[in-house]
Amino acid sequence: MAQRGTHQTRRRAAATPLRVVVDLNRCQGYAQCCFMAPNVFWLHGEEALWYDLAPDETRREQVLRAAAACPVQAIFLEWTEDASSDEAPETHA
Ligand code: SF4
Repeated sequence: MAQRGTHQTRRRAAATPLRVVVDLNRCQGYAQCCFMAPNVFWLHGEEALWYDLAPDETRREQVLRAAAACPVQAIFLEWTEDASSDEAPETHA
């Protein structure tokens, strides 16, 4: 079983209304999201989940499937007017 570990989020500049937030208090690192949307969620090492906060519109269907597949319902989706701002990556332990 995967262990819960350090999680890092990454934002990339993209003109998309789709925003992804993972509740790190719920996430158990099972990586179902990585299988459903491998270009949005991915494991870094054995314990870290990275994800794209603002995935491209073409990934919308994958992201919806990933959110539905999460066994602890840790993935939340938002649609905003502008998600194109750049911020430094966040790291959560
Ligand atoms: S499927 Fe859910 S619990 Fe598993 S790594 Fe993704 S967000 Fe975390």
